[in-house]
Amino acid sequence: MSLIVAKFGGTSVADYSAMSRCADIIIANPNTRVVVVSASSGVTNLLVELTQEQTTDERRKQLIKQIAHIQYQILDDLGRPQEVAARLDSVLSRIAVLSESLSSNRCKATMDELLAQGEQCSSALFAAVLREKGETASAFDVRQVMRTDSHFGRAEPQIETIAKLANEQLFPLLSSQRIVTQGFIGADEAGSTTTLGRGGSDYSAALLAEALKASAVEIWTDVAGIYTTDPRLAPNASPIAEISFNEAAEMATFGAKVLHPATILPAVRQKIQVFVGSSREPERGGTWIRHQVEEAPVYRAVAVRRDQTLLNLHSLQMLHAQGFLAETFATLARHKISVDLITTSEVNVSLTLDKTGSDSAGNGLLSEALLQELSQHCRVRVEDSLALVAIVGNKIASTPGVCRRVFEVLEPHNVRMICQGASPHNLCVLVAESEAAQVVSALHENLFEA
Ligand code: ADP
Ligand code: ASP
Ligand code: MG
Repeated sequence: MSLIVAKFGGTSVADYSAMSRCADIIIANPNTRVVVVSASSGVTNLLVELTQEQTTDERRKQLIKQIAHIQYQILDDLGRPQEVAARLDSVLSRIAVLSESLSSNRCKATMDELLAQGEQCSSALFAAVLREKGETASAFDVRQVMRTDSHFGRAEPQIETIAKLANEQLFPLLSSQRIVTQGFIGADEAGSTTTLGRGGSDYSAALLAEALKASAVEIWTDVAGIYTTDPRLAPNASPIAEISFNEAAEMATFGAKVLHPATILPAVRQKIQVFVGSSREPERGGTWIRHQVEEAPVYRAVAVRRDQTLLNLHSLQMLHAQGFLAETFATLARHKISVDLITTSEVNVSLTLDKTGSDSAGNGLLSEALLQELSQHCRVRVEDSLALVAIVGNKIASTPGVCRRVFEVLEPHNVRMICQGASPHNLCVLVAESEAAQVVSALHENLFEA
């Protein structure tokens, strides 16, 4: 069987009519056996607010009411099937219990269990929408197979165990029915719920596709594919019909929110094609991400990642010495921080850290403990409110004239840092957050609309 895993994001499962459109997409293809859903649009944000320390009892009640309103509206539109109503009641009371418990004990495992409840609701509702349309479908608790480590808020999937469990527990169900399951969440060995970080449902779909050796993953969202830049920033951005794994990975890494940065990894490992399309307008087609593509243009897209932090480390110990970087990276690794861009001079190292590396509850990366540890061997300066703009393409490092074209556009802006040369697929500049939109649209105009 040529198996397809289809993932539907928050706006695609926002309400009953959106879910109904997605169900039609699934029904049109008998090979789509596994459906991965995000929480209905807005629900995870509400749950994140419920996990925050400063949320008052009064606000907590309002938030739970808002979540209940979104979910029960879909249930009403479905005609209130008994078993789904009971399931929603139980998830909603669990949300109340977990958020109450967090107000006195800020336990990370409880936060993840709370954040996971949005996907519990949407998957139960979505399976019911498929059944309403005459399909044999059920909701499957992904925690039975999506094994991760216990790094709550940003758990690491355990690839081999996931493959084993998915083949034992999920695969046998697929011949007789469609399975609707949750993105974003998993469970550790002890059975505690974990989450993969915000936007992680794309990653979940790719991991399940890898485990089940699917032939394709479909990412259904609110745009008709991957565009030359975020269409919200440049109205003239155009959809890309076909793009390589490398280019798509760079785009996702550098902020093209349409794909979670880790989505491409499982697809590359198993050479699984990825499709990105609009669940609202499936007839418009979308983007295929493939191992081999026909065209490899120098300029493919412009991506932007906001909320960047620049760490500037200064130490005279670096002068003609060895080991400073090793020590710095070891400290960062102990704090589970992955560094993105780096530039060095004789006595300075600048590196960027990324808010998307923060955990599902939005807790930042830079802790007091980390800063103190770093300060023991160098002077540390932290700059915020920066954005990283990346030009993504091919042979960027070996094509004459790229820098001239890019710098021409950047002339009116202060560029805080430039990274080019390590990868043939990108050129990155760090600019003030407040100028990012302008830089992106000017670059897009110059590189794609000329
Ligand atoms: P979902 O909830 O379906 O996962 P997301 O909001 O996470 O959807 O991702 C879709 C959004 O990604 C689009 O609405 C768009 O604004 C944004 N985006 C950023 N860069 C790009 C790009 N290059 N191409 C298409 N969409 C992009
Ligand atoms: N619901 C989660 C989030 O909002 C995961 C996802 O949508 O991919 O981050
Ligand atoms: Mg997303």
